[in-house]
Amino acid sequence: MRRTIRFRFALLILLAGCSSQPQDIHESRFIMGTLVQFTISGVQQDKALEAIRVAADEMQRIEDVFTIYGAHANTVKAFNASEPGDIVMLPDEVDGLLATSLDVAWKSGGAFTPVIGSLSLLWGFSLPEAPVKPPSASNITAARSGVDLKYIERTETGWKRLSTQTMLDFGAIAKGYAIDRGMAVLRAQGISNAILDAGGDLRVIGDHAGQPWRIGLRHPRKEGATLGWFEARGDISIVTSGDYERFFTYQGRRYQHILDPATGMPADRSSSATVVTNNATLADAWSTALFVLGEDGLPLLESRGMQALLVDADGQMHATKLTLLPFHPSVQ
Ligand code: ADP
Ligand code: MG
Repeated sequence: MRRTIRFRFALLILLAGCSSQPQDIHESRFIMGTLVQFTISGVQQDKALEAIRVAADEMQRIEDVFTIYGAHANTVKAFNASEPGDIVMLPDEVDGLLATSLDVAWKSGGAFTPVIGSLSLLWGFSLPEAPVKPPSASNITAARSGVDLKYIERTETGWKRLSTQTMLDFGAIAKGYAIDRGMAVLRAQGISNAILDAGGDLRVIGDHAGQPWRIGLRHPRKEGATLGWFEARGDISIVTSGDYERFFTYQGRRYQHILDPATGMPADRSSSATVVTNNATLADAWSTALFVLGEDGLPLLESRGMQALLVDADGQMHATKLTLLPFHPSVQ
């Protein structure tokens, strides 16, 4: 969730499909710090472009509502600046995504948590100036002290925090939510066959001229290479959290932007975590949780009906047995 223009390469790329009539329409917009790519098949260009315009506006609106960066005021920033104990009214939309986030936080044992804001701001991976070295251990300890669900409470009229170090950050879920909303807009505009890809987090509907969409999964260490591809048909989301887009190297060690709430340090068990499930909001939150949990998190996702694919820190690939979409590994 950033306003700064920093180009992000898509984790997942669309591989060449077969030809269709009329031609596919491809458009991209820069929203939420990432290149959002729309692919629409089976309709005339005018209709597709109008649908994309409305969907992109909706996604931009969501960024403005949820971002904790930039000068634009919103209720999430107001909460993060509130006096401990003061009640802050959150609009229904924020209240709803917070409730969903807290649910995933409980179910993931805190691997994903929406109250990680103080740590995210301290590490600064999403600030306009990218960080070049880690924060001090004492600052990490201080920020981490507020990263605990016991310091956030719902009241009859709103939400309150109990520590100045407890701050919301929807960075690991709002992009998925924006994809779901963007896709709902496309559908409402009469689009039935599309891919909405926000920097590798995507949702697909329909198919590609009667054939499944082919969705490539980026190799976390080989630029331009894929781990394989999914065959996707119907309404499904594929979301990946990776360590290869926002990171720096300091004294020979790599530091990336997904943090382990238990340590306050970058999670170090994974290099790429992909989740397949019906909606992008949950896929986004759970891909971040899985990245933190590593291979051990796979049974948890599987038991919740999600398909997942994990590349661990040594580059080994692991997957759930559950297969919602066929995956075809690349020949390495
Ligand atoms: P990406 O933004 O690359 O799609 P994620 O969906 O995993 O990746 O979101 C990462 C962002 O979420 C971070 O930039 C930070 O703002 C926030 N974050 C980092 N670690 C966690 C975590 N353990 N739980 C929840 N949010 C996190
Ligand atoms: Mg995420």
